[in-house]
Amino acid sequence: MPYYLKFVEQYPTVYDLANAPEDAVLRLWQGLGYYSRARNLHACAKMVVENFNGQFPSTYPELLKLKGIGKYTAAAIASFAFDQVNAVVDGNVYRVLSRIYGVEDDIASTSGAKTFEKLANTLIDPKQPAEYNQAIMEFGAMHCSPKTPACGLCPISEECHAYNHGTQLKLPIKSKKVKVRTRHFYYFVIKEGERIYMKQRGPGDVWQGLYDFPLQESNQAISTPELMENLPPELLNNVILEEESKIFKHVLTHQRIFATFYLLNVVNHKAIKALSSTESPGPFDLKQIQDLPKPILINNFLVEHIF
Ligand code: SF4
Repeated sequence: MPYYLKFVEQYPTVYDLANAPEDAVLRLWQGLGYYSRARNLHACAKMVVENFNGQFPSTYPELLKLKGIGKYTAAAIASFAFDQVNAVVDGNVYRVLSRIYGVEDDIASTSGAKTFEKLANTLIDPKQPAEYNQAIMEFGAMHCSPKTPACGLCPISEECHAYNHGTQLKLPIKSKKVKVRTRHFYYFVIKEGERIYMKQRGPGDVWQGLYDFPLQESNQAISTPELMENLPPELLNNVILEEESKIFKHVLTHQRIFATFYLLNVVNHKAIKALSSTESPGPFDLKQIQDLPKPILINNFLVEHIF
């Protein structure tokens, strides 16, 4: 809620959000994770301004055209905000419908998702689509929960297929298991007096558009001597290792990141400048660093060691 309030205060209209610099939007989002959502929200605001004259579209097909809006969000917005008859299908809805109707289709498959979408759209109350959608999601979240469904108190247990067959905990069926990838990040925190080199992360990886430090990445843990041996010579010969941090663990949906930070003091400014021109826009002072959008992992390190 505090994030939401800050957001609408900063960007009271879709035009304010569309015109904001991406860095500022990401900075306001800092700490929430899922940064692609912030970038999508920003891109979506631009689309609403440029393609829809600043008026948020109100129908499901139009909503689907907006950046970051998939079937679930389009149905939620269409029904909650515009009373359109579009059934929302989220994890709660899959669970409730699979249990009540005994549907064993795999929710991770395209055909399975379609089966549930179709079923949900036959059940939605055309007179109260918003209430229906919110009720079924709430029922799944509060009552027909994943591990401890309150079947003994359930008003529809008599008709519930899963209850009658004892299959509540087997449903819904989901085949794909999410693979978690382990990554080791070795960050070089290059300090020039009170200023620190930071770089903006590019596309195709986590934290796009956010700022961190030059780093070396590995799939396996690397010892400090081994890492130092393999430092690029322009770094190795021109800095002094001041401190090595503890290992910071950061868990994302599909990744586990272990990060170690090496505080390096610059002794040869000229050589480091050459490095900065390719790797980083240059050193930032502490006030600038405060204002940059950063992953929470980086912020935690800065709070513990620098600020
Ligand atoms: S009886 Fe149990 S499994 Fe069936 S809908 Fe109710 S809470 Fe869910």
